[in-house]
Amino acid sequence: MVLAYAMNFTRTFIPTLREVPADAVIVSHRLMFRAGMLRKLANGLFAYLPLGLRSFKKVEQIIREEMNATGALEIKPTVIVPGELWKESGRWDAMGASLLRVKNRLDADFVVSPTAEEAFTALVRDELSSYRQLPLTLYQINTKYRDEIRPRYGVMRGREFVMKDAYSYHADDASLDETYQAMGQAYRRIFKRCGLSVIPVKADSGAMGGSGSEEFMVESAVGDNTLLLCKTCEYAANVEKATCKPDFEAHASLEAAKSAGASVPEIEKIDTPAVKTIQELCAFLKTDAKRFIKTLIYKALNVELDLSGAPGGEKLEKRKPGTDAPEVYPEAFFAVAIRGDLDVNEVKLASTLKASEAVLASDADVARFTGAPVGFAGPVGLSAIPVIADTTVTAMTDAVTGALAQDLHYAHVAYGRDFVPWLIADLRTVIAGDRCPQCGGELYEKKGNELGHIFKLGYKYTQSMQVRYLDETGKSRIPTMGCYGVGLDRTLASVIEEHHDENGILWPMTIAPYHVLIIPVKYEGTMKVAADKLAAELEQAGIEVLLDDRPERPGVKFKDGDLIGIPYRVVVGDKNLTLSTPSVEVKRRSEKESRLAPVSKAAEELAALIRAELH
Ligand code: ATP
Ligand code: MG
Repeated sequence: MVLAYAMNFTRTFIPTLREVPADAVIVSHRLMFRAGMLRKLANGLFAYLPLGLRSFKKVEQIIREEMNATGALEIKPTVIVPGELWKESGRWDAMGASLLRVKNRLDADFVVSPTAEEAFTALVRDELSSYRQLPLTLYQINTKYRDEIRPRYGVMRGREFVMKDAYSYHADDASLDETYQAMGQAYRRIFKRCGLSVIPVKADSGAMGGSGSEEFMVESAVGDNTLLLCKTCEYAANVEKATCKPDFEAHASLEAAKSAGASVPEIEKIDTPAVKTIQELCAFLKTDAKRFIKTLIYKALNVELDLSGAPGGEKLEKRKPGTDAPEVYPEAFFAVAIRGDLDVNEVKLASTLKASEAVLASDADVARFTGAPVGFAGPVGLSAIPVIADTTVTAMTDAVTGALAQDLHYAHVAYGRDFVPWLIADLRTVIAGDRCPQCGGELYEKKGNELGHIFKLGYKYTQSMQVRYLDETGKSRIPTMGCYGVGLDRTLASVIEEHHDENGILWPMTIAPYHVLIIPVKYEGTMKVAADKLAAELEQAGIEVLLDDRPERPGVKFKDGDLIGIPYRVVVGDKNLTLSTPSVEVKRRSEKESRLAPVSKAAEELAALIRAELH
């Protein structure tokens, strides 16, 4: 059976545009509209037109093939999922406004899937009984909806989009790791086949149970993610996760400072009238930010870390967010102390606290816990809430910090002598210029867009949703779980971001909507006969052909051809057909020059070239 078919331009629907839509600020958004691939229905909602859908389906097929090659099994669950399942996992409350909730005529709650851990886990729960059924990896390629606050950049961040999401279930960590690694390899192949250069980075694995996570990024000037990469080795991490070599002597004790001959004066309260910011304080005390301990008050949500022994912990109440989910504190406050020249990484903080989120506390909350207006917090004498010190603070033996009162600071503050934090953790935001944690080389930054994400989830869903199986000894156990997502729309748009020029798209063969564009100078007489014949021969050879049969000037057809970006263009003109060897003009979209090919051999030659690229 021949799947390919030649399509005449006049019979398809490719409404190309000369104008760029006003809200299209990135290349892929502009080109998808101009090439007639895509139209907008509403903010964040897009319709793929025939040309766009062809490329979209090619991305889908590549993903499907690579998933199947790992042994993952495709299923098709629904997009609308009972709200009950989301209540069981605890995410009905935790997800916030990005979760689209709907009610049916019986007033029952439903969710329009933004992701499908709950739906898959519920299906597996009902079928799983024995360890013999594990490991099990299921996936879907299906519609997702997220009520994004600010959809933008066309399909890069839409509200409705398509994701391939896979979920795997295992008896032990080794089995999870095996599938996780296989998925990582499959993702590398997927993006390579799509013609994309991706940067796999270490990523935050979240609050609960996650033990490994990798994101697949493409470099992008408008990327939402900051990546830190090492100039010397292969280290690459999302800033949310990035660590660095300490630029201080770890845990330098007061004694060590003393025996090294450093002066360690006693703590002293100083008047600092009308200075609030670190910069003002630096100027006032004629010193630099590295000498300050900056203290910030944070509010954390859904904290799983045990606070029973922590300052203020006795006043906090726990609750269960889901059926069998671990208990959490819905809300808890913390003081985070960090060296004055650094910023606190809120993702690292949330992860340290096993919290769903950590945000700066309001001015009123700051005043409530520190007894002073914003700007005078400090770890010395702070007892209402737990103090968490970034590791940098453990090396500070002569620091300045707020004194929990208006216009007052402490000087000569020593870690360990003047305050002892409740917890020490790595919380700094790593920046360009910091040292690589692996090799000590210099780190630099890039902006990136996330195309895919693989994630060891652990027991978060299987525990809260009560999944059980019997092991070899007949003992009831909870399986561990991984999840693996790729956005199809964003991947497609990223292909255009990487493959275009000033005239339009330059499709990689694997994603191109058609392989060959045939342009008869005029679709009549011998030119029509030759063009139709070539199209038929190519079609026979399994090549996908678009034949521009429109009664337009050649210049118009060439312009549209460049815009649409089909890899090969064949121009069929009277002049070349009447040469001693009747010929057509073949041009690669990515090259400037065209060449003549004998009509008799053109189809065969082209088919061979194209097949070689369609691995
Ligand atoms: P982001 O940080 O960009 O919002 P995410 O981390 O929330 O993404 P995941 O939940 O990991 O995304 O989803 C997996 C994949 O789904 C992403 O890597 C991306 O390709 C795609 N994706 C997520 N949100 C959108 C969206 N609003 N529009 C298009 N694709 C999306
Ligand atoms: Mg992600």
